Amino acid sequence: MSDFVTPGVPADAAELIALDRAHVWHPYASMTDPAPAYPVVGAQGVRLQFADGREVVDGMSSWWAAIHGYRHPVLDAAARDQLDRMSHVMFGGLTHPGAIGLAQRLVAITGEGLEHVFFSDSGSVSVEVAIKMAMQYWQGRGESRTRLFTIRGGYHGDTFATMAVCDPVGGMHSLWADALPQHVFAPRPPGGEDLDPGWLAETRQLLERHRGEVAAVVVEPIVQNAGGMRFHSPAYVTALRKLTTEFGILLILDEIGTGFGRTGAMFAHLAADVVPDILCVGKAMTAGYLTMAATLCTPEVARGVCGGGAGLLMHGPTYMANPLAAAVACANLDLLATGAWREQVTGIEAGLRAGLAAAEGLPKVADVRVLGAIGVIETVGPVDVRAVTEAALASGVWLRPFSNLIYTMPPYVTGAADVTRIAEAMVSGARANARV
Ligand SMILES: *Cc1c(COP(=O)(O)O)cnc(C)c1O
Repeated sequence: MSDFVTPGVPADAAELIALDRAHVWHPYASMTDPAPAYPVVGAQGVRLQFADGREVVDGMSSWWAAIHGYRHPVLDAAARDQLDRMSHVMFGGLTHPGAIGLAQRLVAITGEGLEHVFFSDSGSVSVEVAIKMAMQYWQGRGESRTRLFTIRGGYHGDTFATMAVCDPVGGMHSLWADALPQHVFAPRPPGGEDLDPGWLAETRQLLERHRGEVAAVVVEPIVQNAGGMRFHSPAYVTALRKLTTEFGILLILDEIGTGFGRTGAMFAHLAADVVPDILCVGKAMTAGYLTMAATLCTPEVARGVCGGGAGLLMHGPTYMANPLAAAVACANLDLLATGAWREQVTGIEAGLRAGLAAAEGLPKVADVRVLGAIGVIETVGPVDVRAVTEAALASGVWLRPFSNLIYTMPPYVTGAADVTRIAEAMVSGARANARV
């Protein structure tokens, strides 16, 4: 018998926790003084099964990815079928039906004119690829453009190029001031349905001033996700498309958080009725099964990139277009094509609105907002992560608050009673946060 922990074999929760604390570094976490991590040994539908026997409703969709819940029969079957054919094959010089089928599907459901698909292994890398595409596009036109233009409050990933376009205050730029390229930041779009003329004037002026050096504008349309869970009107996305077209600058939309129905539209760029030059998708693309992302672009961008000195896009992850991930992603997009997600997201939106109203006016609550299957309680000052997490678990719900946000992005298949439970857990979390 091995002395090692074996995946899938029941182990004592306390032992797992001790080994985890000794060896495993968690995201955005200290290794020397780790916060608690709860061992999960199974998941089914919208429920996570903890090693200590507890079963909780998942309010996070595993970072917004598991939109159809866990162990979905169609997705499980797609993964198993592909496993029987091949788990992986290199993508240099070879191709396979999964990648081709997924590219076809992505082209079909995204804005008219996005024709070409570059697969990568995570969202951050897909944004890196988008940035590379934009810079190579300008090289192809005989110009060296390495600056990017974005809005404050964004989040585009944890790699160096993407960190440089994350919010300069909340995005930990201070840690990396000397290592990051300096890009141009426009103000964060204010709330409200109508485009704010002051914002437009300032943003236009800033872009005009830098028009000769900016390769691309990079933004998350409609929802700024990990940068603060803030929503802006589609009118701002439309305005940025107009400005970039006028100044001849590329527009990169990062829909890694907003894509595949989360906001109530299949993609936020479709709700804003714009087509970007380059589009990044990830997270929910494989419905939370495997890591995969994609960067789509127009034929004009592709011609620009390939017309330059290199003549090629210089990127190629080892696990590019992984067949297992592609098979699950195709099955996921076929599930989405049935359209059931629309009613599910609308139902979640209504449930969250009703349930989260109880948080309005609570001490230390600054704002409560809901859009599609996203519910947010914004607090005054940073949340006490531990107090909120424990209060939510006591209500039978898994939440992962951060910064000044208690939020949910539940699986689309979450039923009305469980949505109510998630909202109650968030309100209970806000109350607990007010007490500490
Ligand atoms: C999560 C996210 C990323 C980064 O994706 P990873 O797969 O974590 O690298 C980039 N942009 C947005 C908008 C995201 O939500």
